[in-house]
Amino acid sequence: MESVQTLTTRFQLPNTRKTLVRIAGSSIAKDPQGAVFQLPNPGAANAQRSFTIPVQGGVQHLLLNEAATLLNDIESLYFPNYRNVADSPVWQRLYGYAQRNLLEMTRQGVVANSALPYESIPCHYCGIVLPKDLIQIDHQQPQTHKALAVGKVFHALNAQLTMAPGVTRVGAAPTKNQQTAQILAAINAGNQNQQNLVAQINGVMPKAWNPFLPWNRRTPNNLSPKGQRYVLTDKGNLLLSVGIMVNGHAGFLNQCVHSLLNLAPACGTCNVHKSNMQHIKGA
Ligand SMILES: [Zn+2]
Repeated sequence: MESVQTLTTRFQLPNTRKTLVRIAGSSIAKDPQGAVFQLPNPGAANAQRSFTIPVQGGVQHLLLNEAATLLNDIESLYFPNYRNVADSPVWQRLYGYAQRNLLEMTRQGVVANSALPYESIPCHYCGIVLPKDLIQIDHQQPQTHKALAVGKVFHALNAQLTMAPGVTRVGAAPTKNQQTAQILAAINAGNQNQQNLVAQINGVMPKAWNPFLPWNRRTPNNLSPKGQRYVLTDKGNLLLSVGIMVNGHAGFLNQCVHSLLNLAPACGTCNVHKSNMQHIKGA
């Protein structure tokens, strides 16, 4: 768990990495001018202390309190062994896990509902309902595009970390911010409260894509409204840099790639189909 105190201590260690790192679209790189973030005013009260970077026309602040909360949130959504996400009650609620009777053929050749229910989950892409043991875990932003996974997680946390606010389709309720807040509340709750909080989370409906037709992935232009969701603000880049100071470069990116927010259930057909998707430019 990070706190104002742990972040201060880490920053003051002589060898910690304080380089500013930036993400735009699918690229991730150190600041070309080699800028580093600072922790001014060592005498100030904890509530007012912030990391800073110089930006055009002023200084960007990230309060230590807020940085600690956001880093703790990102860590609580992280599944180091990402396949374990299938056992998370929150993830199961999001993706329609239930005990269901599935079709089986008898020895007499009759197709009917199974006598006993299966633990089952629908594929997020085509919607076919499969036994949980046959469902694969798909990285929505693939492991080869770590920067997009950071954008996805930061966008969902909102907190002005990406250029477009964390809202879903017009009129959709709840907004992505509210959804993320509910997910975090359920994850961080003790066992007694968790069931109630999980029940309040809205499910994510399958995309109902046809797995037998070609899929194209539109890679949004950074300037399009959709692309702006994944472009980090100065504050977002500062949080990314602090996250790397705390967890290391690979460690922090892994927290975003293997985040509950980036993991969806997929059948074998869709998982392969999705890996082969063509990336085309679009808005
Ligand atoms: Zn599928």
